[in-house]
Amino acid sequence: MKTIKVSVVTPDGPVYESDVEMVSTKAQSGELGILPGHIPMVAPLEIGAVRLKKDGKTEFIAVSGGFLEVRPDQVTILAQAAETSEHIDVERAQRAKERAEQRLKEQKLEHIDFRRAELAMRRAINRLNVSEHRI
Ligand code: ATP
Repeated sequence: MKTIKVSVVTPDGPVYESDVEMVSTKAQSGELGILPGHIPMVAPLEIGAVRLKKDGKTEFIAVSGGFLEVRPDQVTILAQAAETSEHIDVERAQRAKERAEQRLKEQKLEHIDFRRAELAMRRAINRLNVSEHRI
């Protein structure tokens, strides 16, 4: 089976590197499925999951936005933050979700940064989904 090299890199360093059969993720323009030999492209990513097909299994990585660069033999994902499903601290994500929910509720009472709380909520929900492979 043909493979393509995938690297996921964050400001804190590399998070994942492997040769895989297919990469799927959500770009701002929609769902992307990348196979070996894909035409070169660059795409901004949403907060979402990266799914990597390898040896008949699927691995999951939570990414908090960033960019995807495709070359025929290599996919590079530059993300603000990224965690493989087994490295997600579920309780931390649950606490982050509750904090964000609280802020979104308080927003009705006083002015706070709605967009910031909304993004925190989306990151937390994404981590919870990826940790349970619910994507
Ligand atoms: P929190 O409020 O819990 O810090 P956050 O969404 O604001 O969540 P980020 O700013 O996206 O956190 O990430 C900061 C760093 O912490 C990154 O290195 C990220 O990989 C890591 N991180 C955040 N949440 C988790 C989690 N639930 N499990 C593992 N690592 C996490």
